[in-house]
Amino acid sequence: MTKKTYEFDEVFSACIKGKKERKFTDHEERLNNFLRGAHKVFKVHCNYQIYHAYKDESALHGWNGKELESIYEKLRRKKSAGRFYYTKLREMTADGKCQICLYGSVESLDHYLPKESYPSLSISAHNLIPCCLSCNGKKSTHKPKTANDQTIHFKFDHYYDSNWLEAQYSHNSRRITFSPNKSNYPENSIDHKRISEHLRIHELYELYETLALKEIRDLVIRANKNNLNIKTTIESEIELIFENAKYYPNSKFTFNQWKLVTFEALLKSKDFISNGKNMLNEDNFLQPPEYDFA
Ligand SMILES: [Zn+2]
Repeated sequence: MTKKTYEFDEVFSACIKGKKERKFTDHEERLNNFLRGAHKVFKVHCNYQIYHAYKDESALHGWNGKELESIYEKLRRKKSAGRFYYTKLREMTADGKCQICLYGSVESLDHYLPKESYPSLSISAHNLIPCCLSCNGKKSTHKPKTANDQTIHFKFDHYYDSNWLEAQYSHNSRRITFSPNKSNYPENSIDHKRISEHLRIHELYELYETLALKEIRDLVIRANKNNLNIKTTIESEIELIFENAKYYPNSKFTFNQWKLVTFEALLKSKDFISNGKNMLNEDNFLQPPEYDFA
């Protein structure tokens, strides 16, 4: 089956002309040529994963950045002709998950290179990432300056084809911390730095730890309730993730990746395997704050 491909010009035309049939003005024609060129130049950068090296030439060519930025509103506005493509861009995922945190549902599009600084890419499909509202609010000002601080691009990077994350569990501090997978991406490699920056900029260290601690609590409750051995309980959770991956192979590297590495870290912890089941008795996991407001 051949895939339907939407060309840049039809997206641009829908944004500029709306639902009307008419010719472009000279100004619009020149703008179309400029933005199509920028879109193609950016794609070359994407293919080589050198997003940071893209130079916005809007000002150089005398374009008003604000005007270019505002075209995005025409793509996004409900009931506009551009909205068709906005919806198609949001649906560019197999699993409907935010392509930044891989946890939330897609509700929005995020500009990989912020449109305020890169107005030439305000409606470029390669610069638009399907994401949740929470992620969309966090990163808007990040401009990668070197290869090392480029966040992960869901379409052009290949981190999600294998394990990219790992976790360390400490039973003493009751913490689970995440880091880039060192077997696949050795420390000091560009990839290691990029994954690390992605996690930092999008506050995913915090998100994944919060999710993992809740997952661990649920796991302990389940083991206790069903009177199961903790190791067996973890192993059956891992089995479930791999079962899921039979139907959608990438799931273990995308929305299930934090969960998979959490369980793997728990299996490695001798303390958790022998004492994990008593955690709920030792600790009060959920306590109201020790303060109040008058
Ligand atoms: Zn998200």
